[in-house]
Amino acid sequence: MRVFRVGHSPLPEAPSVREERFTIFAMVTLLIDMDGVLTKDKEFNPFDYAPTFIKNLKAKGIPFRIVSNNSTRPPSLIVEKLKEKGFDLEDGEFISPVAVLPDYLKDKGFRKIFVIGTPMLAEFLAKSGFEVKRDYEVDAVVVGQDKEIDFTKLKTAVSAVFLKGAKIVPVNLTRIVKDSDGLFFPGAGSVARLLVHATGYEEELPNLGKPSPQFIELALKGLPRDEVYLISDDIYTDLMGAKKVGLKTVFMTTGKYKREEIEKAGFKPDFVFDDLRDLERQLIGN
Ligand SMILES: [Mg+2]
Repeated sequence: MRVFRVGHSPLPEAPSVREERFTIFAMVTLLIDMDGVLTKDKEFNPFDYAPTFIKNLKAKGIPFRIVSNNSTRPPSLIVEKLKEKGFDLEDGEFISPVAVLPDYLKDKGFRKIFVIGTPMLAEFLAKSGFEVKRDYEVDAVVVGQDKEIDFTKLKTAVSAVFLKGAKIVPVNLTRIVKDSDGLFFPGAGSVARLLVHATGYEEELPNLGKPSPQFIELALKGLPRDEVYLISDDIYTDLMGAKKVGLKTVFMTTGKYKREEIEKAGFKPDFVFDDLRDLERQLIGN
């Protein structure tokens, strides 16, 4: 199947009648996962074709957003990092649940919080107007990725929930994360579930990250929604969730799972690609 698509940019010269017959003017919008699709490690180093891929999307007027469940730093600092690594990007073209978090906490009326997460996350929340505390007397425990997680933090978090009725707010529900050395560690979702288990917490955990409806809504703001693809290396969290909310799914084998995982997961994505060049050729055309 060869489908030509035309994105946002003004149409070039009117196509000849012959060309027109073979052109489908479907507006494709891409939500592109960052980790494992565009970047290959925690230092934001890109796969070799990734910056060109983004450049080409812009040149062709294909609407897109880079989406990530990264919980370690605010979106503006990630955009800065990606620019350093050669991506031509603007603020607003990158969306993460950290952007959703302050509004969520405010809506719930939480003021005092304990943070399992990076100093950058804690600082961002403090700047957003929350009292970030080091003890268990808080309204909520925010859980992001934290490579310095230790017994004291876990004890404080468990006490906040168990003794003070603090709510558990994971930045994302990620189960497992591939580290730069090829090994794996539990994602924020897994640490949040540890707190749930320990305290007998009965509320459902909120899902602020992709592919929750709230997150997708924010990511698609101002973009056409005729045909939206989520491109990701994560079958379980991203693609299965994306399908549930009506998005098309593209599985990239460049990240945490190999092709064989589809069988194991019993999931059939709309497309599978081993390389961004193939994706570009088949999904976007020339
Ligand atoms: Mg990923």
